[in-house]
Amino acid sequence: MASQADTVIIGGGVGGTALGALLASAGQRVILVEKNRIIGGRCASYTRDGFVVDVGVHLFGLGEKGPLGEVCRRAGEPEAISWVLARHPRVSVHFRGQTQAFTREMMSANVKKNELGNLARIMLQVMQMKEEELSRLWHTPLREWLAGFTADPSVHGLFAMLCGIYFCITPEVASAAEFIRTLREVMAARSSAYPRGGCGAIPRAFQRILEKHGGEARLGCPAEKILIEQGRARGVMAGGEVIEAGRVVSNADIKATIGGLAGAEHFPSDYVQRIQGLTWTAHVVALKVALDTKVTDQKMIMYLPDLSEEEMAKLQRQYLEGGSLPMVAGGMLNSPTNFDPDLAPPGRQLIFFGTRCERHQDWGKWGEIMMDALCQVFPGIEKHVLWTALDSPDTVERYAGEEGNVIGVGQTVDQIHERRPHHQTPVKDLFLCSAEAGGHGIGTELAASSALELAEKLL
Ligand SMILES: Cc1cc2nc3c(=O)[nH]c(=O)nc-3n(C[C@H](O)[C@H](O)[C@H](O)COP(=O)(O)OP(=O)(O)OC[C@H]3O[C@@H](n4cnc5c(N)ncnc54)[C@H](O)[C@@H]3O)c2cc1C
Repeated sequence: MASQADTVIIGGGVGGTALGALLASAGQRVILVEKNRIIGGRCASYTRDGFVVDVGVHLFGLGEKGPLGEVCRRAGEPEAISWVLARHPRVSVHFRGQTQAFTREMMSANVKKNELGNLARIMLQVMQMKEEELSRLWHTPLREWLAGFTADPSVHGLFAMLCGIYFCITPEVASAAEFIRTLREVMAARSSAYPRGGCGAIPRAFQRILEKHGGEARLGCPAEKILIEQGRARGVMAGGEVIEAGRVVSNADIKATIGGLAGAEHFPSDYVQRIQGLTWTAHVVALKVALDTKVTDQKMIMYLPDLSEEEMAKLQRQYLEGGSLPMVAGGMLNSPTNFDPDLAPPGRQLIFFGTRCERHQDWGKWGEIMMDALCQVFPGIEKHVLWTALDSPDTVERYAGEEGNVIGVGQTVDQIHERRPHHQTPVKDLFLCSAEAGGHGIGTELAASSALELAEKLL
C-alpha cells in the first residue's frame, strides 16, 4: 500500500528540513525523502576518525537572530540550535607573514585616503536607506549603485570582496537592494555564529522537530519521479515506493526538478526555458585539516594572498567583473573546534580553509597551494597533520547537484525579488523551497527564509 502524507518534501537541505519542521509542528503529516544517507545537502556534516567535518566552510551571518533561529521559534523550539558567536575573539587577518586582529581601520586602510569620505557616505546610505528607495534598487547592479558615489577601484574592490563572501557573484550582476539589505542586517544584528555540533546540527535540529511531530525523514531514499495527473502533483515515487500526498515540495536542484523529476512536458515552454536558463553562483574549494594538537585559539582568520600591487589589481578586477580566476589561495580560514571542542577528540583541532575557484581545475594542485598557505599562517603545522580532505565543486555536486555551485540560484538583478523563481510552479500543488526560489539573505539563510515564506503561504 502507498504511504500517505499531506506534504512530501524532496530533499533534506536547509530549505527542505526547515519547511518540514514548520509544517509538521503546525500539525501536518510530512514525509521528507533525501537521496543521501546524511541530512543537510550542502550544510551537512559527516564524521571521520572521531572528527565532525562539514561539507563546505560555513559561518551563519545572522545566527540565532536570523531566519534559521526564526524557524526554531515558529516551530516552538527556540533552543533547538545552540549557537556560538563568532566575534570572541574577533576575526584576524593574515597578510605577509603577520596575523593581526581585524579592525574597521584596517578595512579602510586598503581604501585610498582621499576616498574615505566616499566610503563613509556609502555606509551611511546602507544603514539609513528607506524601504521605498531600496525597492527601486532591486534590479540595479551593485557596481552601478556604487559608481554613483565613486569610480575608485579600492572602494569597488572592498565591496566586490564583501559581495563575493555573501553571494558568490560579482557586483557587476548582484542586486544592489539585496546587498544593501543583507549588509545592513548583518551589521545591525552582530550575531554571526556557528552551531554546536557542526553545520549539520542545523538540518538535524529541523529533522528532529519534524520527527517529534510525527513526520518521517527517509534517508538514502532518492525521489525518482514526481507524479502528476491532470496538471496536478499527486505524490512522489521514491526509493521504489509511491508516496501519495496533497502537495509536493522540491528542495532539490530546480533545473532537475522541472526538467527531470516532474518532466518538462507538464509546464509551459517559456517557464521551462526560464528555469533552464537560470544562472548559479560561483565555486569554492575547501581544504579540511585534522591536527593532532591545537595550533590556534583563533576562530576565524582572513587569509590575504601575498601578491604584487599589479597582480592584486588584476585579481580585484576579476572579482569585480568576472573572468577566469588564477589558482591563488585567499579566503577564510576557520577552526570549527574553537567554536565547539567536541567536534574533535580531546587535544586535537580542525582547520578549514575555503577559497574561490573555477568549476574544473587541478584539485591535487589546489590542495598543495592551500596547504602551503596554511603553513605560512601556522609555521610547523605540517608535523601535526593527521589527514586532509579537499571538498571541490565535484563534492558539492555529489551532495546537492546544481553543478557544484556554492549557494544556489544567484541573487542577480534578473533573478531577484519578483524575477526570482516563485515557490509555486505552474503545476498545481507542486512547489519549490530552497536557495533557488524566493527567500533573502546569505546561503543557508536564503534557503531558510524561502521555507518561512512558503510555510506562511501553505498554512
Ligand atoms: C563551500 C561552501 C561554503 C558555504 N558557506 C556558507 C556560509 O558561510 N554561510 C551560509 O549561510 N551558506 C554557505 N554556503 C551555502 C549554503 O550551504 C547553501 O546555500 C544552502 O545550504 C542551500 O540549501 P538548500 O535548501 O538550497 O539545499 P541544498 O543544499 O541544495 O540541498 C538539496 C538537497 O536535496 C537532495 N536531493 C537532490 N535530489 C534529490 C532527489 N532526487 N531525491 C531526494 N533528495 C534529493 C540533495 O541530496 C540535498 O540534500 C556554502 C556552501 C558551500 C558549498
